[in-house]
Amino acid sequence: MSADSALKGPEPAIVAANQAARSLLPFEDRRDLDDVGRGFLGTVDQREITDRDGRVVWSLDAYGFLDADCPDTVHPSLWRQSGLVARHGLYEVAEGVHQVRGFDLSNMTVVEGERGILVIDPLLSVETAAAALALYRSHRGDRPVTGVLYTHSHVDHFGGVKGVVTAEQVGAGLPVIAPQGFLAHAVSENVYAGTAMARRAAYMYGAALPKGTHGQLGAGLGQTTSTGTVSLIPPTVEITHTGHQLTVDGIRMTLQLTPDTEAPAELNVHLPDRAALCMAENATHTLHNLLTLRGAEVRDPRVWAKYLTEAIQLFGDHSDVAFASHHWPVWGRERVLTHLTEQRDLYAYLHDQTLRMINEGLTPLEIAERIQLPPALEQAWHTHGYYGSVSHNTKAIYQRYMGWFDGNPAHLWEHPPTEAATRYVDFMGGADEVLRRAHQSYADGDFRWVAQVVDHVLFADPGNTEARELQADALTQLGYGSENGTWRNFYLTGALELRHGLVGTPTVTASPDVVSALSLDQLFDSLAIRLDGPAGWDADITVRWNVHGTEPITWRLHNGVLTHVLGEGPAAAGPDLEVTLSEADLRAVLLGTLSATDLEHRTGVRATGDVGKLTELLGHLGTPDPYFAIVTP
Ligand SMILES: [Zn+2]
Repeated sequence: MSADSALKGPEPAIVAANQAARSLLPFEDRRDLDDVGRGFLGTVDQREITDRDGRVVWSLDAYGFLDADCPDTVHPSLWRQSGLVARHGLYEVAEGVHQVRGFDLSNMTVVEGERGILVIDPLLSVETAAAALALYRSHRGDRPVTGVLYTHSHVDHFGGVKGVVTAEQVGAGLPVIAPQGFLAHAVSENVYAGTAMARRAAYMYGAALPKGTHGQLGAGLGQTTSTGTVSLIPPTVEITHTGHQLTVDGIRMTLQLTPDTEAPAELNVHLPDRAALCMAENATHTLHNLLTLRGAEVRDPRVWAKYLTEAIQLFGDHSDVAFASHHWPVWGRERVLTHLTEQRDLYAYLHDQTLRMINEGLTPLEIAERIQLPPALEQAWHTHGYYGSVSHNTKAIYQRYMGWFDGNPAHLWEHPPTEAATRYVDFMGGADEVLRRAHQSYADGDFRWVAQVVDHVLFADPGNTEARELQADALTQLGYGSENGTWRNFYLTGALELRHGLVGTPTVTASPDVVSALSLDQLFDSLAIRLDGPAGWDADITVRWNVHGTEPITWRLHNGVLTHVLGEGPAAAGPDLEVTLSEADLRAVLLGTLSATDLEHRTGVRATGDVGKLTELLGHLGTPDPYFAIVTP
């Protein structure tokens, strides 16, 4: 990484804004500082966690710079949050309940049973999970894992499972517990829009940024994502209702299902014998995302708030500590209640007030600008937007209820970015004039406006180097002023790509374990999305797959659409090709690891008809672009 971006200093307006923010923040409330260190038992000497090839997948020293005072290049609230999140080690949460924190984006929780341990949420990577378990064992003895529980369907809560147990152990009866619908959601969220989400996730977590006071320093929820091996072992015990009581290895649990909150399949866990409450990712030390900036379906804040109310009712009187799979616990019955109540009020307030304003006729940008949290919520640290934000969450609520259109017909049929930009720049007197005035706005500290207006110059002429530099500078300042970790990463990554071209590192969308858990239905769907529609307009190809032991699947390319139906299909004429094969071979063809011609010659495969038609069909599939441009056309 070249040093120029890393050396870009803060402008006076950002220095002043960050200082002003400092005076408004509740720094006198130091309880989080005590809580984050409470129960610390130790950490590891080995500072880097590596994979089999020696590649570093997580570094415990990467964020050592956060021990210093907050520099002017960072919002003081984000600096504080990152300093807390970066702490790492093994911590006792309650008697027999420990957490390994700071070894990945998420926490691993270990509950001690009669014979061994239950692992709740085994991190994102096999390597970090194994390191976390080793740290636990170095302090608590070599206890065997007797059960695993996934609180929800996000990869940072299951991807490391093979670092703590093997598929053989699970096959031999070791329970893997998860909420209803876990597997389908675990594999589906990143399938259909996976490439675009991965590209944007690289922006969101600042994967390509140097770590430091002028670069990436956290993501608010955790520091960043580990980059090791993602695994998946499907659950063997599905929780289907709230109030479900379960005992594993002598550990009694009461489960609360919370579908469609932070994840489509999620649950909270109460441990009555420890008076401890695991809130999964439903109540953490941040305002969470209703719509993550990488892209996702909008979450439901109304339901989220209702489940938090239910958690208070079910467990509030029986919980001396509440912890989550991110951040640090809250101790004391009163504080647990306050924490859950404030988190509940936060999501309920955003939901209700956004809708109130929608019904007053306000549009997303107006609502995001006008809405303000009540002072009581503003003065709590954990309600601040380090991961989600009030601004983008209110836009998400608008999207959930109203969609993309704000009702103004002037916005019904706008020109796309480049066509609009060309006209804007022309109307505004040409690129030189726009940049002259934008430099003035920059000097005035109006970086939001610079970003908005210079964007037009860039989309009209991405080769304009003066525009690139000015835009990169403006985005850098906006990053320095962001309380939200993901906003900072987005701004600074945009600046980095304007200065150096496309450098964002796409994260791996689907590991072999995750891909093998896809249903055939999902695989066919994901191929249909890759079809180059116009190229396939005139083709009409039907392939029938006879998979051993199941109904035939009829696959047809027609009208530029690739459909699959169970059964013979409606086609009057017979298929162009009929193939009898194993499911493994079908999956290999769909995943592109086995070509049509190789398929024909495999033992156990019987093909009747024209194999060339399958080759033709597969030839109409495009490959998604993991490096598409974002800050330029
Ligand atoms: Zn998570």
